[in-house]
Amino acid sequence: MNQGKKFFIETFGCQMNHHDSEKVSGRLVKMGYVPTGNASEADLLLLNTCNIREKANQKVFSRLGAVRKTYGAKPTAKIGLLGCMAQMEGASIFKKAPKVDLVVGSSSYSFLPELVSRLEQGERQVIDVSQDSDRLFETEAGARESPYKAFVTIMEGCNRFCSFCVVPYTRGPERSRPGRHVLSEVESLSSRGFREVTLLGQTVNSWRDPLGEISCFTDLLRRVARIEGIRRIRFTSPHPSDFQPDIVEVIETVPEVCNQIHLPLQSGSTAVLQRMKRDYTREQYLEKVAFLKRSKRDIALSTDIIVGFPGETQQQFEETLSMVETVGYDSMFSFKFSPRPGTEAFAFQDVIPEAEKSRRLQVLQQFQRKIQLERHARLVGKEFEVLVDGSSRRDSRVLAGRTTQNKIVNFSGPPELLGRFVPVKVTDYAPNSLRGELVGC
Ligand code: SF4
Repeated sequence: MNQGKKFFIETFGCQMNHHDSEKVSGRLVKMGYVPTGNASEADLLLLNTCNIREKANQKVFSRLGAVRKTYGAKPTAKIGLLGCMAQMEGASIFKKAPKVDLVVGSSSYSFLPELVSRLEQGERQVIDVSQDSDRLFETEAGARESPYKAFVTIMEGCNRFCSFCVVPYTRGPERSRPGRHVLSEVESLSSRGFREVTLLGQTVNSWRDPLGEISCFTDLLRRVARIEGIRRIRFTSPHPSDFQPDIVEVIETVPEVCNQIHLPLQSGSTAVLQRMKRDYTREQYLEKVAFLKRSKRDIALSTDIIVGFPGETQQQFEETLSMVETVGYDSMFSFKFSPRPGTEAFAFQDVIPEAEKSRRLQVLQQFQRKIQLERHARLVGKEFEVLVDGSSRRDSRVLAGRTTQNKIVNFSGPPELLGRFVPVKVTDYAPNSLRGELVGC
C-alpha cells in the first residue's frame, strides 16, 4: 500500500537518538516506505527530537513553525515529532504546533506501523507516548548510518534522577534488554559485515540480564567479544558510581574491548555534585580515574561537564578546572546549564547570569583545547591501527579512520580501504584530530 512513499528524518541530540532514527527507518522500510535525503519529496517528514537543553527545544519549535518553508515540504506531507520532546510535551505539541500530525515517544517505535496506518486512514492527529511497552526492545534498526559500525541498545531509561536531567522523565525507568537478544543482534550484524559495535544505555554499566543468563555487564562484553567477526566493542555511557575495576580488567584482557571510556563528571566540586544529585564526590570520581590510569592499556578518557549550575561559585568552577587538569581528558562535551521544566533544578533560585555561564564555558573549552593539543603532540611518530570509516566529500582519497581510543586520524589512501583496518603513523595533530600516513606505502 505504501510502495513508493518516501520518508525523511532529521535527528537532534545524542547517539541514542541517532540509533532510534535507524530503528524508525527500519520499521518504515518494512512498511514499504523509501528513505530520502531530500525533505521536499517526503510523504512523511519526521523530527527526532532532544529535550536535554532549552536551545534544542526552541530549534525544533522554530522548525515546526515554518515547516513547509524550512523543509520545502509538500502540502500533503504528514509531519511527525519523535523522541524526548514528544515524550515530555505529549498532546500539548498539537496545540503549540498544529501542523504536526503524529507524536511518538521513544518507547513506542515498535507501534509505528499501526500509528502511521491510522494517519493514512484519515485520522487527523495520532499520538503514543506510553512508556510501559513490553515491545520496547523489539524494534531492530533497519538502515544503519555506517556500514561498518553499529549501535546496539542494551538498556533504556534511567532511575537516577540527577537534578538537572530530563532523561528519567522522557525515557522512563531503567529497563535492561535480555542478553541473548543483544548477542543475537550482534551476531546478525557481524554476518552482515559490521566489525565494530557500541553498546548503548543511559547508564550502560548498570545493565543486568532480566533473564538471569549472563551474570553482569562485563560478562556481556566478554560474550560479545567471542562473536566471530567483531573486532571492536565500545560502550556508552557508564555511570561513575557503578564503575568498578572489573571494567578495567575486561579492557586489559579482551583486546576487542576498546581502551576508551566516557565517564561523565558534570562538575569537579563535591558541593555542586551533591546539588546535582550525582551520588559521588570529587574524591570518589578520582579514585575511579586512578584505577583506569593504572591499567596496562592506555585508556582514553572523555567526559561531560556542565558549567553555571545554579549556585556554582567561582571557586567551585575552578575546582572543575583543576579536576580537568588532574584527569587530563582526551575529549570533552561541555555545556552551559539549561533549566529543564519538570526537573528539580528547574526550581533552583540562585541562577548564574547567562553572560557568566558563557564566560565559564569559554574558559573551560580553551583550557581543554590546550590539554588536547598537549596529549595529541605526544602521539606524533606513533603507529595505530584504524578502522577506515569515512572519506572527504571533496576528495575521496582523503580518508578518516578511528583508533581504538576513538581518535580520528585523517590520511591519504585509496577509497578501497573504506571499512578495513589499516596501520597509520601519526605525523601531525590538531585539538580534535590527528594527521597521519599509511604505514608500508
Ligand atoms: S544518570 Fe545520566 S541519564 Fe540518568 S538522570 Fe543522571 S544524567 Fe540523566
